[in-house]
Amino acid sequence: MTRLKSILNDTLHLFYPHLCKGCGTDLLAVSDHICLSCLLELPSTGFAPLPNNPVEKYFWGRIPIKAAHSEFYFSKGTLIQQLIHQLKYKGDIPVGRFLGSIMGNSLKQSERFNTINAIIPLPLFADRERKRGYNQSAILAEGISQQMQVPVITGNVIRQHATETQTRKHRNERWENVHQSFQVKFPDQLKNQQLLLVDDVVTTGATLEACAQTIISTCAANISIAVLAHAGK
Ligand SMILES: [Zn+2]
Repeated sequence: MTRLKSILNDTLHLFYPHLCKGCGTDLLAVSDHICLSCLLELPSTGFAPLPNNPVEKYFWGRIPIKAAHSEFYFSKGTLIQQLIHQLKYKGDIPVGRFLGSIMGNSLKQSERFNTINAIIPLPLFADRERKRGYNQSAILAEGISQQMQVPVITGNVIRQHATETQTRKHRNERWENVHQSFQVKFPDQLKNQQLLLVDDVVTTGATLEACAQTIISTCAANISIAVLAHAGK
């Protein structure tokens, strides 16, 4: 059976060569997305085991989080930007799971994240998710889940557009608007849990902060954060 599978793979490979998304090199395994040399070139941060790393500093004095990690540094015109683009706008779900598994691999090696018992992808607005067909953070979460052996919870924390009254009232208070837009539907499910909140790219941390704040205040849960890339200074 395995032999038949490998013959089939070889034949398929002949007709549909499988190329590295970074440099275009021919890849042998269908499950690979980039070649080893491109993988090693990705700008890893090494933040997972480091307390007080730059991503944690985003949240200092704003919300109490247990630990935070960004897998990569984000910069324009690089392979990591291209892969994120594939995930967010080209429907490349396998590449998202692949990136998530890289994140999960770093997280599971750090004892700072070993008490996590559920993963929450940062929710999108329902209309946005409908249009895209998926939530890219949920795809990353699937990859992380596979590595950490911890379940993903979707559909409990939701994101809603601020009502018109809120918009008028807080026109100059963007944070308030964002804050108002998250809601936990079933607080009991998350009560006192050790949660990992997952997002793709963090710039100011305002959205993650608002989401975490809502979860902390409604469920008394402990929050850690993992993002694929951070674009801050
Ligand atoms: Zn390559």
